[in-house]
Amino acid sequence: MASGDASEVVEKPLVFRLHEGAPEVVREVLLERGWVEYDEQEQEEGDWNLYWRASTFRSCDFDNILPWQRLNHHPKTMGITRKDNLARNLKRMKGIFGPSLYDFSPIAFILPNDYTKFVAEYTKDRYANGGKPGYWICKPVDLSRGRGIFIFEDIQDLAYDSPVIVQKYISNPLLISGYKLDLRIYVCVSSFHPLTVYMYQEGLVRFATEKYKLTSLNNLLAHLTNTSINKFGPAYTMDKERVGPGCKWTMSKFRCFLHSQNIDEILLWQRINNIVTLTLLTIAPSIPPTPNCIELFGFDILIDDNFKPWLLEVNYSPALSLDCPTDVTVKTGLLYDLVDLLNYKKIDSQRQSGYLKQWYKGPRYLSTQSLGSANAPVFHPKAMYKPKEHIDLTHNRSFSRSSVFYQNSNKEAQSDESESFATKGCSTSCDSRTQIYAYNREDGTEASRPNICWDTKKCPVLSKEPAQVQWAISTTNKKTSAVRTQAVPQNKERLGAARKRPSLKQSSLGLCKLPSIHIQRYKPASFPWNSKANENIRPQSRVGDFILTFPFNEATYKASRSTVNVKIAVQEVQKLIKRLVSSELHKVKRRKAGSFSNSICSSKECVGPLLWGPKDPPLLSDCCSHT
Ligand code: ADP
Repeated sequence: MASGDASEVVEKPLVFRLHEGAPEVVREVLLERGWVEYDEQEQEEGDWNLYWRASTFRSCDFDNILPWQRLNHHPKTMGITRKDNLARNLKRMKGIFGPSLYDFSPIAFILPNDYTKFVAEYTKDRYANGGKPGYWICKPVDLSRGRGIFIFEDIQDLAYDSPVIVQKYISNPLLISGYKLDLRIYVCVSSFHPLTVYMYQEGLVRFATEKYKLTSLNNLLAHLTNTSINKFGPAYTMDKERVGPGCKWTMSKFRCFLHSQNIDEILLWQRINNIVTLTLLTIAPSIPPTPNCIELFGFDILIDDNFKPWLLEVNYSPALSLDCPTDVTVKTGLLYDLVDLLNYKKIDSQRQSGYLKQWYKGPRYLSTQSLGSANAPVFHPKAMYKPKEHIDLTHNRSFSRSSVFYQNSNKEAQSDESESFATKGCSTSCDSRTQIYAYNREDGTEASRPNICWDTKKCPVLSKEPAQVQWAISTTNKKTSAVRTQAVPQNKERLGAARKRPSLKQSSLGLCKLPSIHIQRYKPASFPWNSKANENIRPQSRVGDFILTFPFNEATYKASRSTVNVKIAVQEVQKLIKRLVSSELHKVKRRKAGSFSNSICSSKECVGPLLWGPKDPPLLSDCCSHT
């Protein structure tokens, strides 16, 4: 963490901000890692690095994100995290790519809308079973933790008073000593554009605390694996055969169990891997490009007695409460590695001042004029620009308590159109690239202010002391821009003489233009954190216990550079699973012939995509090799 790209930048502690309801373990881990907690009363408005919420962010939170900041949610992920949306989206993908690829989720119906379809399927299933009804599970669409769930055979037992999904009940689950289990897989999407997915190697195995019997469908302690239910069961603390006390194992323990049973897990992990990829592909194109967001999903996977993994649901804000020692091991480790995945640089710890210093030095951003690092402009989020016809500089609001920002206070004009400002001379060529800045010295004094155009080819380099600050309100969508002009006195003396932190009114004279930090809105992945795609730098294949699972080869890398090409990505997943299956068949044949040798590359020099799952993940290419 915090590897420096601006070596002269002094490291300050990173700052986290927790919304009420955020898990306590997040606070604990971050404090332990030397972070400090954001204090609204004490600190400036944008002076934090990570904002963690259990619930969704408001759209203005996404709009106003600054380069040193991260949010723990992407927008619009409900497409997979609500049970009904997930069912709908998977059905759609089944329709497009065929049922055999998207065969990993139990058939589901959203009621009341799909009631007739459900009855038809129920009847068909019953006939196929020789008249005996199959097993179904009914779940409220917007509840979690096992609330409101019941299992039924007879359609007459189906009763609901809110929207539900009725799903085929997987009645042949893998059991350990008679106890049902499912897997909680942690998946981190560090970016949707380009799609970048990491799966956490460690995870949880959640057990039901009573033995599984199809004759007791009402016994939720035998049929549901939710901790929230099982921790209240009488057998929770008992030392249960093989499972032990409590109701959780680490994934490592589960792997040991599989080894002890001589189960070759490679195919299982790769199948789970594919489930995650194919599920995320259902929503990836519809997620708006939003910089500096991550999402930690909890995928619930049930394994049946044929070792086929089934997707039950995807959890938004998976529980991070620490109920038992297993939770402590898994969840604290998870958060430690997640922080590393956030990839903070030294400059991020400096927040505003660090970025401003860097930008002053960067020839890419500035015109040929040299600027002293003391000339620190102050950024403010685009939502704070509220331009109107006649700009009234006296009604500005301050963005940060110690720095001065300027914006127009006309609320009505706050829209996409007001996101960027440009000089008159380049209002069309630079529309989304320039923004009005106020800047002052670090000691609070105003500095001389060059007027900068990013695209020097198209725009004339403006003088250091502009006679006018020209305002252009542009809209990228509509490709139009309205230019406003505001006269600003050219009074070097007055500007240079200001030794105290300027008042809003004083500082309004310091307006100038610098590249927009909100260019990211238009050109995703241009923030330093997300700039990998632009610079052709591939995401790391492993960060702590997070293993990169998408992109997993050159084709998927190319197919997901900007907006993900779902068709190509799906085809690659298909090819991969085919290669794995045939490779497994080869292994079995060779094993039978007694000539099996492990071809897995053990060299640490090996690079390339790894197989998520095993503790020492082999290269994916090795798992697929026939030789
Ligand atoms: P919730 O969000 O309330 O936890 P889930 O869909 O995760 O809802 O279901 C809760 C539990 O019920 C799962 O952990 C699993 O043990 C069991 N379950 C859910 N769906 C099925 C299914 N189709 N087949 C078998 N068991 C299921």
